[in-house]
Formats: sequence, structure tokens, C-alpha cells
Amino acid sequence: MKYAYFMPTKIFFGKNCVDKNANLLKEYGKKALIVTGKTASKTNGALSDMCSALNRQNISWDIFDGVVSNPSVENVRQGAEIAKSVHADFIIGIGGGSPMDAAKAIAVLAVNDVDNDALFQGKFKKKNLPIIAVPTTAGTGSEVTPYAILTYHKIQNKANLTTETLFPKIAFLDASYMMALPYHLTVNTALDALSHAIEGFLSSKSTRMSDFFALQSLDILGESLPSLNPDSFPVLHTREKLLHASMLAGMVIAQTGTTIVHAMGYCLTYYKNIDHGRANALLMREYLRYVSLSRSEAVNWLLDILNFDTLAGFQMMMDRLLGHRETLTDEEIKKFSMIALEAASTRKTDPIPSLENIEKIYRNSMTTP
Ligand code: NAP
Ligand code: ZN
Repeated sequence: MKYAYFMPTKIFFGKNCVDKNANLLKEYGKKALIVTGKTASKTNGALSDMCSALNRQNISWDIFDGVVSNPSVENVRQGAEIAKSVHADFIIGIGGGSPMDAAKAIAVLAVNDVDNDALFQGKFKKKNLPIIAVPTTAGTGSEVTPYAILTYHKIQNKANLTTETLFPKIAFLDASYMMALPYHLTVNTALDALSHAIEGFLSSKSTRMSDFFALQSLDILGESLPSLNPDSFPVLHTREKLLHASMLAGMVIAQTGTTIVHAMGYCLTYYKNIDHGRANALLMREYLRYVSLSRSEAVNWLLDILNFDTLAGFQMMMDRLLGHRETLTDEEIKKFSMIALEAASTRKTDPIPSLENIEKIYRNSMTTP
């Protein structure tokens, strides 16, 4: 057996964990920049909890609340200018994956003068500012990964900024911030976590350690996903399960990275404006069918952990959660397949798919005009 494992983030999970551990924030300096989205963190309690924690520790703070979904390089550069002008010592990302990823990129750009291409090389003269992460969605696991995924219009796709120092110093996970997360966002983000756990488990980079977290995450998701329905909000206990499973799945991809599903999903997000988690989930059934052709034992094992006897049973649950599937033209399928084939994460897929395999996954996953 052989593996390496590194995940340096301090994790605090549970109701009021920001308040209870506020004293730890002092370690990172006297001035914080809070990076967040336009609305959600102001109404779900996450922003006010953090502000009062900072006030009690006599840490002054400013806020950049201009992060949009799937933040672009230009969007994070706006935040970095603020971080520089207020002389931030550390960056606090509060929100879904978009604000957390933006916080990471801002932490780099606040102290490094690099152009866009150099940004994605991940090698910087100065170490990024420390990052604190507070997720308010349960899906990306960004609070425990070294990745910031940004929209990069130059390459007309999403691009991955990775460097070990982007692991947040602290992740505060309080599921009570998610109580009013709408159904479609609850589903889309939970399915992102599912995608991380499945892709990580089936990745050629998986290890005994990453499998340990993947199987635990799948076990919880197998219990929680079937209970989601549009007519009722999940109770705190279910929200906590989803958040825990999402964090575990983040710990998986922190080791394995993602595979073809994410590479293909990024095109659906960039060109078709489909939410990140939904984009992956639309492709999942066909991806599993493709992998099971050569690795049926591994796929059956994960289906079993998820509580399904067959791929058809899994497909039924996914169809119920996803509803009507978006349309792709033949031209789009060809274009997106070429792009996905070239992605670095595609080479971590086991077995590595050909262009024809990728086209088939798109064609069978989406509706055609
Ligand atoms: P998101 O883009 O962060 O947020 C989607 C929407 O949810 C926003 O409108 C946001 O509102 C709202 N929202 C957030 N928390 C809420 C709450 N508690 N209640 C009600 N609404 C809430 O979506 P996401 O799926 O969490 O993140 C997707 C991004 O993460 C993508 O860019 C993806 O590539 C990236 N990602 C990163 C990693 C990683 O390891 N770094 C892994 C997977 C995905 P506001 O705009 O008001 O905030
Ligand atoms: Zn993802």
C-alpha cells in the first residue's frame, strides 16, 4: 500500500461554531476582508455571526460583497484591489463555493502582482494571505480543498487555481445557515458533493485514505438524497448530514482531484449557464454506465453503499431530483467533447475516455433538439 495525505484545515462543525471559536481568529491578524455574495450571507446569519466574532476580538474588518456565481478572474481582481487598499491581513470567505473560491484567489492576488495566465500556474513569489472559510451551501467542499475554480473568459471555460497554501486555515461549518437554502440549490449542491465522492472513489488517483472519506460521504448521501423533496425544507439534522457529507467529499477531491464529469460539467456551466452541481449530476448516470463497462465491481460497490441494487434504481432517483434535462445540439456536443478531452482532470478518469466515449456520455445525458 502506498499513499500521501495532506489536509491542514482546522474544522469546527456545529451550531454556533463561529461564535464558540472566535478567539482563534486573532492568530491571523488585526484586519480582515470578508468576501461574500450579494444577498444570502446577509439573511442567513453567517455574516452577522462573523462580524460580531471579529468585533469581540477587536479585529477590524471590511467587506467585499460583490462575488457572483462562478466568479471570473475580473470579479476576484475587484476584491483583491479592496484587500490591498484596506491592508487586509487575512481573508474570510462566506457563502457557497463561489465566495469561498473568490476568497482564495483574492488571498493570492492581494500580495502577488501576476497576470491571468500566471495566476493559474499556481506558483507565486509571496505566500497568499491566510483564508478562513464559512460555507453556506452544502456541496462544493471548498472549505477543505486547495482549489479556487474561476471563470476564465480567455479560454472560454472554468479554470482551476491550485496551490497547497489555499487550504483554508479554519473551516467553520454551521448547517443552520442553510435552513432557507431553496430546494433547487439544496439539490444542486448536494449532487455536487455526490459527484466529488463518486469521481474521487473511481479516480485513478484514489487511495485508501481518500476512499475512506468517499465511502463515508456516499453512505450519508445515500441516506439523505432520497429524502429531499420540493414541498418541505430539510430539518437541521438533514442539513447537517448534507454538510458533513459535502465536507468529506471535499476531503476526497483534495487528494484525488476530479475527473471527466467535472471536465464535461464545466462546459455545461460556461456555455449553457447550468449550475455547477446540476451540470455534473446530469452526466453522472452515463459516466457510471461508461465506467461499469470495465469496472463493474467498483461501480456496484458504490451503488451498494448508496443503497441501490442497480444503476436503474440510481437513475430513477437522479431523474426525480433533476427533472427535465437541458438540450444540447450536435454541434455543442462535438465542441464540448473536444474541450473536455483536453482537460487535465480527464486523464485521472479510469479508464481514460476517448472523444467518442465523451460524446456518447453527453448525447445520452442531455436531450437533443
Ligand atoms: P454559489 O455560486 O456559491 O451560490 C449559488 C447561489 O446560492 C447564490 O445565488 C447564493 O447567493 C445562494 N446561496 C448561498 N448560500 C445560501 C443560503 N444559505 N441560503 C440561500 N441562498 C444561498 O454556488 P455553489 O454551488 O455553492 O458553488 C459553485 C462554485 O463552487 C462554482 O464556481 C464551482 O466551480 C465551485 N466549486 C469549487 C470547488 C473547490 O474545491 N474549490 C469544488 C466544487 C465547486 P449569494 O449570491 O447572495 O451569495
Ligand atoms: Zn464540483
